[in-house]
Amino acid sequence: MAKKTDDKMNRLVSLCKRRGFIFQSSEIYGGLNACWDYGPLGSELKRNINGFWWEAMTNRRDDIEGLDAAILMHPDVWKTSGHVDEFTDPLVDCKTCKSRFRADDLENQSKCPVCGNNTLTDPRQFNLMFKTFMGPVEDAGAVVYLRPETAQGIYVNFLNVKNSSRQKIPFGIAQIGKAFRNEITPGNFIFRTREFEQMEMQYFIHPSEDEKWFEYWCQERWNWYLELGIRKEKLRWHEHGPDELAHYAKKALDIEYEFPFGWKELEGVHNRTDFDLSRHQQATGKDQSYIDERFAEKFIPYIIETSAGCDRTLLTVLVDAYDEDPSRGDKSTVLRFAPKIAPIKAAVFPLVNKDGLPEIAEKIYHDLKKEFKVFFDDGGSIGRRYARMDEAGTPFCFTVDGQTKEDETVTIRDRDSMEQTRHKIAELAAILLDKTK
Ligand code: ATP
Repeated sequence: MAKKTDDKMNRLVSLCKRRGFIFQSSEIYGGLNACWDYGPLGSELKRNINGFWWEAMTNRRDDIEGLDAAILMHPDVWKTSGHVDEFTDPLVDCKTCKSRFRADDLENQSKCPVCGNNTLTDPRQFNLMFKTFMGPVEDAGAVVYLRPETAQGIYVNFLNVKNSSRQKIPFGIAQIGKAFRNEITPGNFIFRTREFEQMEMQYFIHPSEDEKWFEYWCQERWNWYLELGIRKEKLRWHEHGPDELAHYAKKALDIEYEFPFGWKELEGVHNRTDFDLSRHQQATGKDQSYIDERFAEKFIPYIIETSAGCDRTLLTVLVDAYDEDPSRGDKSTVLRFAPKIAPIKAAVFPLVNKDGLPEIAEKIYHDLKKEFKVFFDDGGSIGRRYARMDEAGTPFCFTVDGQTKEDETVTIRDRDSMEQTRHKIAELAAILLDKTK
């Protein structure tokens, strides 16, 4: 069973490389562990996922503002937030084979899972933040950190955003951006990496309404994954028990997905109480409280956080969409992406490379290109061209054939059902818009 799982993951990883979704970082130098590059199809897919999150979390709403904060922040931010002292994982070394592990990942705390010797060190706390230096002098006073989460950029801008946007509580601030963690055991492809991107939203509320808004955001985020096209039966909730709960959190629920390597966290919804703003107020002396006409009082807002990973969502989308369909012949792989996030929305083919068909197909391609990410292909048999688009997850193929010259229609081939229907060329843009929104 484990072998089958590994095989499927291996085939997905190899498809990702072959078709230009994801490459190992610095591959020609032997690669850099736990860092990955998104290729032509991967970068398009990531932009579409991020875009859909942004649309759902900001554009469709009146109560959430966007933010794009710097990766480098004042080092005191990370002292105040607790990251300098507490953002650690327990690290264990094997004295024999030099392997390193997260103590909480080990089933047997004394035996090395790689070489089998009882030569593991005691766990010691290892801080996951990457450090660098600001300016030309590399001394302790110049240390800055690559942010390990985007959330702090939101907290320290709470007043700026509130005052400039004139939002009233409850309201949120959303941000997509890079985060860095020096993970002890990264792995499972892009599931756990050292450089990754987060999509985080912090919702500022009156403390008396925390349960209501926590429920609301759990529901909203669950529905977002369904809208993204993820199969419902592959998703579940996991509530943090008292031993898992972060010290600042009153309640935390994770949305988990069933990956080939097991059920794993996709996103966390957290009730962070007034911990973050209170700490920043204490450290800076800047009043973070809010005066609410509805409650006729001054208070420090509670925060409900929704924290998701772009890369992890992209992996989920890939795993969930990946299908091997033997009825399609040798090249049987299909990526069944929801059309709205597919990297290429449609491909345009001339059935044969003669009789004026390529010219008609090229015109259709150039017209559609103004509005959609489309692809032109006149190479090889039509079956091979369909198969290449199935592997890229392209939901529709438009084929120009002999009949096109008679009645200005083309066939639309549906990736999932493989059915073909005829439509007027003039209607293609409207059809594509409707099917990909
Ligand atoms: P874990 O306990 O698995 O290390 P976490 O609970 O600390 O993760 P959070 O701090 O809640 O994770 O991060 C929020 C989200 O950011 C995660 O749900 C995940 O999608 C993403 N994320 C966190 N760490 C990584 C990583 N190293 N690589 C890729 N995505 C990550």
